[in-house]
Amino acid sequence: MTKKKLLYLISFISLIVIFILVAFDVSTDVPVSPVAPKKLKKEEPYQPGLVLTFDDDYVETWYNAEKELRPYNWKATFFICKYSAFTKDQKEKLHYLQKMGHDIAGHGYNHENAVKYVAKYGLDAYVKNEIIPLKEAMQKDGFDIKSFAYPDGARNSALDKRLLNYFDFIRGTTYGELYPKSQYCYYEDKRVIYGLGIDDDYEQFNLEYYKSLLLYAKEHNKIVIFYGHKTVDNADERLETPIGLLKQLCAFAAENKLKFYSVDDLKKLKN
Ligand SMILES: [Zn+2]
Repeated sequence: MTKKKLLYLISFISLIVIFILVAFDVSTDVPVSPVAPKKLKKEEPYQPGLVLTFDDDYVETWYNAEKELRPYNWKATFFICKYSAFTKDQKEKLHYLQKMGHDIAGHGYNHENAVKYVAKYGLDAYVKNEIIPLKEAMQKDGFDIKSFAYPDGARNSALDKRLLNYFDFIRGTTYGELYPKSQYCYYEDKRVIYGLGIDDDYEQFNLEYYKSLLLYAKEHNKIVIFYGHKTVDNADERLETPIGLLKQLCAFAAENKLKFYSVDDLKKLKN
């Protein structure tokens, strides 16, 4: 048989086979190409914004700040330490802040540096003495704390891992006037977040720089996280955040349609 004839024969047999398959609807084992999964509808990115956080036990100064910043419809998260020493008046003011929509969170029972404490006494002792009693004491007074900020920003991954059993979010700290693109102070859909300091004694204390971060957040759908301490009119000591600066940040946020989030709000965001 010539090569040409052989080709004709193969073609003929193929045609017959196809005819039989089609005519009798014979199923074949030829795998069908998988149906492409429906593309998940991409969620709209959340509204860019900022998280203002304040640490320690300066309830009176925060109460004053609330009065001054209410017209801006601001929102903050207050990380509390040394709660067992709070007076009745301080507790009432903290309740007032909570009632005004702020988030009340934890910062250690005795404000121990977590890394140093763990090195000396171990992780179990840290949780037993710094976390559990704080949560219990505050819970008893109606403060269900859901997040935590490390005193001195001192943290490590073992601590994060352990404390995330007790809290939804843990806040560390970050420093320096880095390019907005290189900053670490944005919410990145993670449960460990980093705030940038806005007290007057920090090296990066600079309203224009803070505004540049907010603008970057606006353009890239991000949320900036700041932290301060004692909110005062005239900041001239360590750990003081000028209320004037906060007013300017609040006004700038409003102008640029940046939303105020509490730390607790972050878990409601789709990611
Ligand atoms: Zn502190």
